[in-house]
Amino acid sequence: MNCLFCKIVNGEIPSNKVYEDDKILAFYDINPEAKIHVLVVPKAHIESANDITEENSITVAYIFEKIPVIASRAGITNGYRIITNSGPDSCQSVMHLHFHILGGEKLPEHIR
Ligand code: 5GP
Ligand code: ZN
Repeated sequence: MNCLFCKIVNGEIPSNKVYEDDKILAFYDINPEAKIHVLVVPKAHIESANDITEENSITVAYIFEKIPVIASRAGITNGYRIITNSGPDSCQSVMHLHFHILGGEKLPEHIR
């Protein structure tokens, strides 16, 4: 499949990893929008939050279970924001479900 994050998951494209296990991978965003900006993805391809189902939601729950570990490993100590873009109006640019974890500094109150 011609998917950027599948290629990062299988090592075809290198990434700066924060956390990895058999189900998920977390790596630093190439174009950070905060002092610390990490992306968390399921290893199995899911297109977006709009494609979460009864069958794959266990992996999404697992991601949220691991986010505190990932944030801590990335050096985030004072809170963070989790964002996921889904579909054209959100400007999702990589069609593989990913959660942005933004922190390491005081973020603006609202991101539009
Ligand atoms: P989206 O706009 O789909 O919510 O987020 C995609 C994110 O992937 C962007 O923040 C972008 O900087 C990041 N990104 C795009 N290509 C690469 C890459 O090759 N490596 C890494 N580490 N991040 C990438
Ligand atoms: Zn993919």
